[in-house]
Amino acid sequence: MKNTADYFKNLIAHCKEYGFVFPSSEIYDGLSAVYDYGPYGVMLKNNLRDYWWRAMVQMHENIVGIDAAIFMHPSVWKASGHVDAFNDPLIDNKDSKKRYRADVLIEDYVANKIDAKIDKEIEKAKQRFGDTFDEPMFVATNVRVQEYKQKKENILTRFARAMSTGELADLKNLIDELEIACPESGSRNWTEVRQFNLMFATQMGAVDGDIVYLRPETAQGIFVNFLNVLNTSRQKIPFGIAQTGKAFRNEIVARQFIFRMREFEQMEMQFFVRPGEEMKWYDYWKNKRMLWHKAITPAEKLRFKDHDNLAHYANAAVDIQFEFPFGFKELEGIHSRTDFDLKSHQELSKKKLQYFDPELGESYIPYVVETSVGLDRLFLTCLSNAFTEETLEDGSSRTVLKIHPILAPIKVAVLPLLKNKEELTGKAREVFNMLKTNFICQYDEKDAIGKRYRRQDAIGTPYCITIDFDTLETNTVTLRERDSMGQVRIDINDIVNNLHDKLHISNLLTD
Ligand code: ATP
Repeated sequence: MKNTADYFKNLIAHCKEYGFVFPSSEIYDGLSAVYDYGPYGVMLKNNLRDYWWRAMVQMHENIVGIDAAIFMHPSVWKASGHVDAFNDPLIDNKDSKKRYRADVLIEDYVANKIDAKIDKEIEKAKQRFGDTFDEPMFVATNVRVQEYKQKKENILTRFARAMSTGELADLKNLIDELEIACPESGSRNWTEVRQFNLMFATQMGAVDGDIVYLRPETAQGIFVNFLNVLNTSRQKIPFGIAQTGKAFRNEIVARQFIFRMREFEQMEMQFFVRPGEEMKWYDYWKNKRMLWHKAITPAEKLRFKDHDNLAHYANAAVDIQFEFPFGFKELEGIHSRTDFDLKSHQELSKKKLQYFDPELGESYIPYVVETSVGLDRLFLTCLSNAFTEETLEDGSSRTVLKIHPILAPIKVAVLPLLKNKEELTGKAREVFNMLKTNFICQYDEKDAIGKRYRRQDAIGTPYCITIDFDTLETNTVTLRERDSMGQVRIDINDIVNNLHDKLHISNLLTD
């Protein structure tokens, strides 16, 4: 595929055509930034969630799970700071009538205009000096690189100040001074910057009932259950609480398919630690989470990115970014949230949210290190890695989803070589029935065998089993592997063990 815009467009079309992701309420022309998962999509999503849950809860004796309600007492969002501060600064371009996040415009400017220039200087020098090139030395001493770095530093300092103090006029000044233009119209005719709260509100109960919010993050369900879990799970600090579930944000700019949705799913874990030990655990979870991603995603497509602008609750924060078809963007956040949330809930609820540490002989409000990954973004990561259009040796092409076999929606397809031969279809049904209690399987007898292989490639099925005339004589089948398209013959009695070895989730957890 020639360019990444085409690649992304084809990926979205593929998701729809093969039943992975549909626009919500499509017969009514869809609902902006809301999506539904189709038959294969829901299986892939379940598998990704399961991989996360097992890696967190099954693999850690000191992490337990909960499933809190989406609706919570309105005071929760007062204490958490979301009512007052869960805002994005929005700005409109008067010519294109397009709306943008002012912070994203500035961050993109830094990444595309300054970082890119630094990278270019480094690349040029690398070529000039060859093997003797000392990159850290070059970066520290090259005058041009230093100028770019200084400029970046100045912008980011001003940006961080404006964001934390809410000086929206200065954000606008920065956009004007940097001559940032609307990507759509190229014009610099901007409105003022305004704050916009991202929470959805609704009413609970009778006509004039109380305002409640659809939770904008799952984390608060964990904080308000801190005591319940502590008192019922026999955990001692350090310990974690994990949760997966829907979150809702009235995003200003909701483009880029399932990357930014108004209803999405988060997988979050809050790890409660002794005050003063949070940086140790922050580093621990940073590394641990990166390894988790690397087990299913090529390392060169992942990187850390420290936050330029810390949220109101954090004393350290880093993103794990993935190289999406539209560039490196946040996939997961790891945040050191201090004791901000528990302390605020303690103050507002007047309930003591403390832990008695038997080793220290004292009580304290624990500090929290959070890992927070979006399941839908993970899904998009997985498909962006997997979606491949290949030209084969014979000149034909195939579209294949090279999803990690353990995460693939359908694990095995069982295919009789011919449809009209009762002895083949009967045997194939027998094999299918044997396998379906172990794996998610699909039986398919329609069309020529080559076409059926292509159909399975397109939904990412890692293994196809074909029942042919030799099967009837030797009790063996062919096992075809999706990526190499290589085939081996194996005995029917060996299929289950053979596939279990390849497909068991323990392979991912121990790696
Ligand atoms: P962004 O800067 O992209 O808006 P964020 O920093 O607000 O993201 P967090 O509040 O840290 O995101 O949420 C944790 C994770 O939840 C993100 O890393 C992302 O994977 C996911 N997430 C957040 N907002 C959305 C959304 N609108 N659609 C899909 N996933 C989201």
